[in-house]
Amino acid sequence: MLLINCPYCGERPELEFVHGGQAHIARPGSPAECSDQQWADYLYRRDNIKGVHAERWRHTHGCGRFFNALRDTTSDQFLATYKIGEQPPVPAQAQPRKATA
Ligand SMILES: [Zn+2]
Repeated sequence: MLLINCPYCGERPELEFVHGGQAHIARPGSPAECSDQQWADYLYRRDNIKGVHAERWRHTHGCGRFFNALRDTTSDQFLATYKIGEQPPVPAQAQPRKATA
């Protein structure tokens, strides 16, 4: 069973969570001044990344809170989870390896 680490509750089974789409989508500052295409892109256009993707998740059958996660879409592995408003951490797999002497 896949375990997801809720930043508020700790590790829980994946059945307690619901995917909430791509993370870090910024609402345009003044929607009235957006073109129809810009507004449509904000509402509907999402990345379809093969690899590490920032996603929003909700712990629906737990604390009920939203949080963000870095998930590798090729392996379905969660690399990190973090609270809304926090900067995404750099996953260990993305950090450069240190040379061993
Ligand atoms: Zn939780």
